Amino acid sequence: MTARQVIRCGTLFDGTGGDVVRDAVILVEDGRITAVGPAGRTAWPPDAAVIDLGRRFVMPGLIDAHSHISIVPGQGDQIGQLREPPVRQALRAVANLRRDLAAGTTTLRVMAEEHFLDIDVREAIAAGTIPGPRLLCATRGITASNGHGRALSSFDGVDGIRRGVRENLQHGADHIKIFATGGVSSASTNLQAAGYSREEIRAAVEEAERAGTYVAAHAHGGLGLRLALEEGVATIEHGALATDDDVALMIDRRAWLVCTLSILFHPTGIEQGDRSRPAIIEKVHRARQIVSANFPRVLGSGVRFAVGTDSMHGLMAYELEMLVRFGVAPREALLAGTRGGAEACRVSSETGTLTPGKRADIIAVEGDPLTDIAAMRRVDFVMRDGVVYDRLLGRNEP
Ligand SMILES: [Zn+2]
Repeated sequence: MTARQVIRCGTLFDGTGGDVVRDAVILVEDGRITAVGPAGRTAWPPDAAVIDLGRRFVMPGLIDAHSHISIVPGQGDQIGQLREPPVRQALRAVANLRRDLAAGTTTLRVMAEEHFLDIDVREAIAAGTIPGPRLLCATRGITASNGHGRALSSFDGVDGIRRGVRENLQHGADHIKIFATGGVSSASTNLQAAGYSREEIRAAVEEAERAGTYVAAHAHGGLGLRLALEEGVATIEHGALATDDDVALMIDRRAWLVCTLSILFHPTGIEQGDRSRPAIIEKVHRARQIVSANFPRVLGSGVRFAVGTDSMHGLMAYELEMLVRFGVAPREALLAGTRGGAEACRVSSETGTLTPGKRADIIAVEGDPLTDIAAMRRVDFVMRDGVVYDRLLGRNEP
């Protein structure tokens, strides 16, 4: 039997970039959207179950374009968390993904886990065993033996990288994550140093593209960022120190910038987790200053951007608020969190907009995020693939 649902929307923001529609309906059949339009002009079958969101702002489910399922930054030592036994990590992932889904994230791109944990969790979510966003998996991060992000796995040299990428793909990776520069949350790495040679990055891109996918590069700035762009990575993650020239190169190469602002700026991010490590806290303060000074210009440059929480589970609203704080119009922020994320993650044929043929990934918000972006904190309806999730919040986290 066909499962038919009709959703009545007070205000509909469909993510295509057009104007909102007041008093609209969305028809869903077997988990896919079949029709969208004004209530008065859209017929629906009499046997459809009616979901009344007539007092809500209805929009596509959010795309968290960069996260890790097993990490909680506020608990500190993120790399140490990735080195823990897999069951402990998997249990944390269950709680984390529940928070993400409850806050409106229906697709989440995982940007490195050990133990191929993300593949097992992706399958558990798809099978309905646990609630969570649809996962796009990187599996193991490709990082050098002395590189940022190194937990258990590391890969050196062109042949080592080819093997690592091929093994990840063989386990079911959707995309490849490479660490092209140092990062904020490790004390000894430099944000602008290149973790890999040009030839090593090239090898990762070749292997990914041969398999029909792409490479996403952790890159803050400097030589590592430039090598990644020149060798054809599709998305630049973080980009905290990107210069005007770097941004021009991103635009030229049609690379996406994936902004991850909450882990750096939110008080429960690195600031909380690594408060006892002065070298890291100093990096946080310096990076905040640079990002605050540069991002209004970066985000206004015409570069295509999406957003990711980088393990700040449930905080997509804060990511969008930060975009607005840096001068992005609320409408553009919502598009970055929906359609933009879907395009950056190469799933825009499936999700990211509310249009016929797409998966029914639909959320509703109390209030109007177009006039007050903080309304995104009040997601109170979540549908993924036509399934409504409720009572997800569990224990009230601070
Ligand atoms: Zn990350």
